[in-house]
Amino acid sequence: MPELPEVEVTRLGIAPHVEAQILENIIFRRADLRWPMPRHLSLDLRRQVLLSTARRGKYLILQFEKGSILIHLGMSGHLQILGKNLAAQKHDHVDFVFTHCVLRLTDPRRFGAVLWHPADDGEIENHPMLRNLGVEPLREGYSAEHLAKLIYEKTRQRSTSIKQILLAGEIVVGVGNIYASECLFQAKINPKTGANRIGLERYRALARAIQSILAEAIKRGGSTLKDFLGADGKAGYFQQSYFVYDRAGQACYVCQGTIRHIKQGQRASFYCVNCQK
Ligand SMILES: [Zn+2]
Repeated sequence: MPELPEVEVTRLGIAPHVEAQILENIIFRRADLRWPMPRHLSLDLRRQVLLSTARRGKYLILQFEKGSILIHLGMSGHLQILGKNLAAQKHDHVDFVFTHCVLRLTDPRRFGAVLWHPADDGEIENHPMLRNLGVEPLREGYSAEHLAKLIYEKTRQRSTSIKQILLAGEIVVGVGNIYASECLFQAKINPKTGANRIGLERYRALARAIQSILAEAIKRGGSTLKDFLGADGKAGYFQQSYFVYDRAGQACYVCQGTIRHIKQGQRASFYCVNCQK
């Protein structure tokens, strides 16, 4: 599943090809993905200039004068820049046709989404899918100290496990299932720990881990940017090596202890019993 770094790398990959370009047409090959798609945009956005791209959480945002398109990649979606008039394959659901290229959304499992936020509705942050999102951990000028204090303040009354708090994305976005396990390992926090039992000092370590691990993933993903051109169908996703994620039963790289696998709220968590208290 694409997590925040993959979505940001996707944005970086497509932006130079589509920003400031004229949208000639949008071809919707289905009525819906996870939700109905705004098919009226085929007409309403014809000959409009894509002003800029942005990202909020895992939503990619294409900004036009009349409003913004929100794209979510769901479980299996990806975007590619292609030449024009390339035949669509089975899972190619939407083509954004620009003057010089096509931005194609492919999504075999169809958990993705294409949504519309008209300019008349005000700030994009007001969109129902965005307004309850937590803070962007890599927001410009946002220090680990800021992030640590925010998490500490917002969890003082909450006994829910820190892993589930992170996954919910209501305090801080971008720490999906893989990165939650990795960040908690780096911060030496057991994923089962109640959020209100973690002090500010340990949240400082967690905040530093979140910022450095996400930034590193985006940096590493940058090496795949060239793959956004072409048709290999795997663009934008990158294999990484993890300290604990998906390593159940293997030896911890730090202490040689065994990595344990548990379920929390239906999701897998991985941690080292020795390193994470
Ligand atoms: Zn260990």
